[in-house]
Amino acid sequence: MRKRIVAGNWKMNMDLQPGIELATGIRDYFSNRKTVADIVLCTPYIHLAILKELLNGSNIGYGAQNCSAETSGAYTGEISCSMIKSTGAGYVIIGHSERRTLFGEGDQLLYRKTKLAITTGLKVIFCCGELLEERKSEIHFNIVKRQLEHGLFGLDENEFKNVIIAYEPVWAIGTGLNATPEQAQEMHSYIRKLIDGRYGDKVADETTILYGGSCKASNASEIFSMPDVDGGLIGGASLKKDEFCAIVESVK
Ligand code: PEP
Repeated sequence: MRKRIVAGNWKMNMDLQPGIELATGIRDYFSNRKTVADIVLCTPYIHLAILKELLNGSNIGYGAQNCSAETSGAYTGEISCSMIKSTGAGYVIIGHSERRTLFGEGDQLLYRKTKLAITTGLKVIFCCGELLEERKSEIHFNIVKRQLEHGLFGLDENEFKNVIIAYEPVWAIGTGLNATPEQAQEMHSYIRKLIDGRYGDKVADETTILYGGSCKASNASEIFSMPDVDGGLIGGASLKKDEFCAIVESVK
């Protein structure tokens, strides 16, 4: 059985204290509740070292939202994979559409980041997804195929087992306009076929594929009930404790 995961992407939100309060609230809520899904909080870097203590003994994982493609050295302002790992974090998001579009991160760079993160011992939540124009021109499958082939499929099978894919149609991120469960299922099943073609059916079957894009408590159950949707990557709704906890509990 592949892992089901609900991961929160806090983006550039939450100063130190509110972030501590949010993480504490989520930890306490789940302290005596079992969940089908694993929970991961992808916070700003400033929270990571504190989460080690705060989430110690809980079933909640945590990680970063980006990393450098370089190992160490004169890269002012960058954060390395090894620094992230040294906080006790287990995950890093790579290839989020905001990194691709606002910071010009392309397939080659994202591949280097992914390879380095995995070599360092992190699990990678690798985002892919098409723009609205690309869906309208019906090239969305080709776009996602290119993103995966160039950004991920250079990994060998053992490395790839540390990848969680997040399909996030860009037109759904932060817009309030989620993909329909059928649209999500169609792309997730296509992604699983691509993985099958590259790594074989066993790996494809074991790969967790998350949906992201305006997922909230009111639509999560329906989207997560699709056979190839293994949970979600949650942006805006991960900043509200009750909403996020309800989304986690939507994975049945
Ligand atoms: C995201 O940023 O990964 C995301 C899915 O955002 P939102 O849930 O706000 O659409």
